[in-house]
Amino acid sequence: MKAEIIAVGTELLLGQIVNTNAQFISRECAAQGIDMYFQTVVGDNEQRLLDSLRLAASRADVVICTGGLGPTQDDLTKDVLASLTGCNLVLHEPSMEAISAMFASRDIHMVESNRRQALMLDGSDPLHNETGLAVGNALTYEGTHFILLPGPPKEMKPMFTKYAVPWLKLRMNDEVPLYSKMLKFAGIGESNLEHQLIDLIQSQTDPTIAPYAKEGEVTIRLTTRAHSAAEGEMKLKATEDEIVNRLGEYLYAAQDVPIETVVLRLLKANKKTLAVAESCTGGLLSDLITTVPGSSESFLGGIIVYSNALKHGLLGVPMDILEGEGAPGAVSSETAVILAEQLLVRTGSDFGISVTGVAGPSPSEGKPVGLVYVGLAQKQAKTEVYTLQLSGNRESIKHRAAKRALYQLWK
Ligand code: ATP
Ligand code: MG
Repeated sequence: MKAEIIAVGTELLLGQIVNTNAQFISRECAAQGIDMYFQTVVGDNEQRLLDSLRLAASRADVVICTGGLGPTQDDLTKDVLASLTGCNLVLHEPSMEAISAMFASRDIHMVESNRRQALMLDGSDPLHNETGLAVGNALTYEGTHFILLPGPPKEMKPMFTKYAVPWLKLRMNDEVPLYSKMLKFAGIGESNLEHQLIDLIQSQTDPTIAPYAKEGEVTIRLTTRAHSAAEGEMKLKATEDEIVNRLGEYLYAAQDVPIETVVLRLLKANKKTLAVAESCTGGLLSDLITTVPGSSESFLGGIIVYSNALKHGLLGVPMDILEGEGAPGAVSSETAVILAEQLLVRTGSDFGISVTGVAGPSPSEGKPVGLVYVGLAQKQAKTEVYTLQLSGNRESIKHRAAKRALYQLWK
């Protein structure tokens, strides 16, 4: 199925807003096995919109439009598609009732133009809008499927996923659907990972192998076509096994979950608790951990010991380790060890993680930007220290350091 997107709105052409709708729709289509061929941006202009729709209809099976479903005179998408297809615009009663009810409940006078948001092309299917007023439309005209969605992303996204995708799927059941699987890696950079798989990536046909990185985590998406999950798993198996064979030590999940979720699952399963001491990550590690629902069962808390005074005052790192001629300094394995061990002593946790490093942009204590020490203390075991040399700007170093700390605990 060949698809294209027409994003309607003069603000897009003026650069006042970014076309995030196209990005979202393209990504969702890729996941559904709908091939995207073109993205067009066109202003709120009747003739140019008509030309764009006509061109798209001549070459695509699916044309997805966003924007221009609102009440104002510059919202033209339905009118223009009506003139292209020769369909009349008719009132969608349930949407009209919802609009009237909304105005009544807010005690505002409804003007005639608000009715426009309840209009539909005659013979089209309504796409319900649960977060706004403008009803979406889906219709097939001369072999092309048209989907009309409103511009605001908070309306467009749920309508696309919940109503437009199923509508399209019913019309593409002759194609074998895509089956994808996510492999999640931590503790390894994207370029290193890609390097180790380069022969597989370059010779890929089926399944396709797509690596992409977010701060501190790398994801590989394997995709094939299959009628069922079991068939998909079977077709992915050989490639997946080869990847595991090469990079298994970094693979923390075979589904799309962040590492903090996996770490907390393990802590919970083993009835263990964790406390953290953060310097250069400034609370980010605690933030990641507490983003996971139910983290309170295993996470006792975090202490941000940013200054040397607090490293000393709250967690007892001796001043002669932190400062002075020849001292190891705050960014050192010595400091990382004491911080991590003191967490066990002072909080009673089973695990203590410390992070201390140079987030940049300038070096500190004569140490390079990106040098980070992660301390990992646990009851009845020797404390480990990991020395990392991370790359990126201040923000990515903080992120990578926090993710690496979680990776070390997972490992
Ligand atoms: P409304 O009822 O709000 O007028 P609409 O369907 O007529 O909705 P537009 O008027 O084209 O849509 O756009 C409304 C708002 O939606 C824009 O001001 C912008 O904030 C957002 N928006 C529109 N198109 C896009 C897009 N392609 N990507 C991201 N945001 C968009
Ligand atoms: Mg509008």
